[in-house]
Amino acid sequence: MNVTVLSGGVGGARFLRGMSLVVDLDNMTIVGNVADDIEVLGLHVSPDLDSVLYGLAGLADDERGWGRAAETWNALETVGDLGGESWFRLGDRDLGLHLVRTQLLREGATLSEATERLAQSLGLRCRLVPCTDDPLRTFVETPAGTFPFQTWFVARGHRDDVDAVHYAGAPEARAAPGVVESIDGADVIVITPSNPYVSIGPILAVEDVRAALERRRVPCVAVSPLIGGRAVKGPADRMLARMAGGTSPAHVASCYPGLIDALVIDVADAPAELSGGVRAVVTETLMRDDDARRRLAQDVLDAAGARA
Ligand code: GDP
Ligand code: CA
Repeated sequence: MNVTVLSGGVGGARFLRGMSLVVDLDNMTIVGNVADDIEVLGLHVSPDLDSVLYGLAGLADDERGWGRAAETWNALETVGDLGGESWFRLGDRDLGLHLVRTQLLREGATLSEATERLAQSLGLRCRLVPCTDDPLRTFVETPAGTFPFQTWFVARGHRDDVDAVHYAGAPEARAAPGVVESIDGADVIVITPSNPYVSIGPILAVEDVRAALERRRVPCVAVSPLIGGRAVKGPADRMLARMAGGTSPAHVASCYPGLIDALVIDVADAPAELSGGVRAVVTETLMRDDDARRRLAQDVLDAAGARA
């Protein structure tokens, strides 16, 4: 059974950890978001791809929720002491990965080639592919102005309300090699419990990815990132309230029109009435440990009528 998963960063990585416990990894392809990517200190950082890499390699810091476990911050401290750019938090271990990725890119590798190399070195058995190798960047429009994603998210602590998001580069972006093929060849398509606007939205903004999803003949199941109408972490609930008009399962589903067949929601959000023939599937969606993650992943496959 071939499974293709569209994933954001932290919520995506937590969920994928569960998927990795219930599916045959050789047949799983992850399509990752790259619209959060940023150049820091001359290095190409891909925060969402890295969350997935670290999560699946067992290197993630579960408590902090991002970056690597047993991290230290000596390099960044030096950067700060020297008056360098230190607002974007990069740990020493994390920096090692960005050095290698950046060198590969400088030598002419595409982002998907560099990602494949990193995934292989970290022992990942599934495929991780960026949604596109072309530049694709999220910008948020707020009452205080329009900001690049990381300026709003990290530097401004996502305190500004968001009126709209746009994805620079989306009209020209082509799906990275293997992305469309993996969607066309999937038996099940899954959208992780990620921010619909800034993690999944950019992936769907790549025209040939969206088209592949629209013509699917297999179930696509999304998992809601909200529990009881609230984000487990981050600004997804505030964004939905302001841009979709609410934080119910119907509002989450409205972010994926014509693209999903079922939405997995938490018991705290049930019952839910969804339009467009989308089925609500109720379970416990808080991924507090591997056990909970495994159960959620299995529930998602069951919702798709798939047998792993
Ligand atoms: P980012 O790219 O690192 O911001 O991560 P994602 O967009 O992939 O995930 C962020 C979303 O994950 C947030 O909206 C959270 O509400 C959601 N999330 C985190 N942990 C959980 C969980 O245990 N269960 C559910 N349902 N959602 C979660
Ligand atoms: Ca993200």
